[in-house]
Amino acid sequence: MDNEMTLSFLAKSENESLARLAITSFIAQIDPTIDELAECKTIVSEAVSNAIIHGYDGADGVVTVHAVLDGDMLTVSIKDEGRGIPDIASAREPLFTTKGHEERSGMGFTIMESFSDELHIESHVGHGTTITFTKKFSPVQAVAM
Ligand code: ATP
Ligand code: MG
Repeated sequence: MDNEMTLSFLAKSENESLARLAITSFIAQIDPTIDELAECKTIVSEAVSNAIIHGYDGADGVVTVHAVLDGDMLTVSIKDEGRGIPDIASAREPLFTTKGHEERSGMGFTIMESFSDELHIESHVGHGTTITFTKKFSPVQAVAM
């Protein structure tokens, strides 16, 4: 393992930007492309906002982002100890949302899957949810002299 970081914060929407900044700063060391950077930020953002909006839904709680860098392979988990997801297969479906009345589009998981190499959802009702994604980065290009 080349590097690792853990960030925990209260489930407040003000902290979403903190999670985005942390992952941006963490992967800067492997010189990501603009696209890779944007994709990682988006996945983390979607997972953190799900943890806050759906996992805790206004209740107090902690969200933890854990990132590991191993060569050009990034693995990130986003964990909450909120209400959990009763039906994971349905939740992964495009346009599935339990908050349609709040103008959610139900596209979070679809976006996360499209930007990651693998996306794993572990969830237990009443105990919480952990989203883990992996993403392989393009090798750093040698600069021509
Ligand atoms: P959008 O992400 O487009 O704003 P959304 O959050 O409803 O809408 P997804 O992110 O795809 O859509 O999530 C689908 C559903 O899975 C949610 O509506 C919610 O019911 C459930 N869900 C997702 N993450 C969690 C979580 N951390 N805890 C509990 N339920 C969750
Ligand atoms: Mg969402």
